[in-house]
Amino acid sequence: MPFLGVDIGGTNIDVVLLEDSGEFRYLRSFKTSDKISEIPEIIKDYERRYGVERSCLGIAAWIKAGKIVKAPNLPTIPEFDGLMENDANCFAFYAAKKFAFGNMLGITVGTGIGAGIVIDGKIYRGKGLAGEIGHVVVGNTEDSRTCVCGGKDHLEAYFGGWAIKKETGMEAKELFKLDESKIYEMKGFKDFCRAIGFAIMLMDFEAVIIGGGIGNRLDIARLKEEVGNYLMPEFNPEIASIKDELAVAKGAALLAKEGS
Ligand SMILES: [Zn+2]
Repeated sequence: MPFLGVDIGGTNIDVVLLEDSGEFRYLRSFKTSDKISEIPEIIKDYERRYGVERSCLGIAAWIKAGKIVKAPNLPTIPEFDGLMENDANCFAFYAAKKFAFGNMLGITVGTGIGAGIVIDGKIYRGKGLAGEIGHVVVGNTEDSRTCVCGGKDHLEAYFGGWAIKKETGMEAKELFKLDESKIYEMKGFKDFCRAIGFAIMLMDFEAVIIGGGIGNRLDIARLKEEVGNYLMPEFNPEIASIKDELAVAKGAALLAKEGS
């Protein structure tokens, strides 16, 4: 029987099916702002239609003991009592399976910035919120910013999609097309790379895999060079990206199937 994976991000909702053959089948995308409150019905409908065994929501939210405690990038928190996982954790799980990494960090940069940690092939959650790299304080007394979560001077307030738009007046995806160099000149890009460097020094990961609508457009050579500024030369994880907008939904479907 197939499994359903749903990615609820700040902008879009994507639905994929993991078929008995092991192949993923893309089903549909919705605008989060239009459809988030209808998520339980949408999922039930797909479950009936495809005879789904189990579904998993990969959601841009902080989850503790199966309950959402905060979702700063979502317009509302959907009522759902099934399996839920933080979206960046789903991304990391998918990346670990795809590339067969046992110990790795997955980072998504989209509307917000999230990270998932995989240790020995399983998601590491700590007390539930491990990997909230978007909300580390990067601090800047001259340009202090309030994060969507309510905190001050968090990484996401300098390099998340919403912050890039606020700073440059342009959607990040447009900026990549028009003048990519503007992205790399941002203070937020340096902050982002420093946060990755600290995470690598702490955990000595095999790999750091980047995704999300903004993350998957970043130039890996530039990223490696800047992250390298914060690493001892003995630390040399593989740094790569996944250019697949469905990676979170696919990870959620894998989690529905395999658990973790
Ligand atoms: Zn924050």
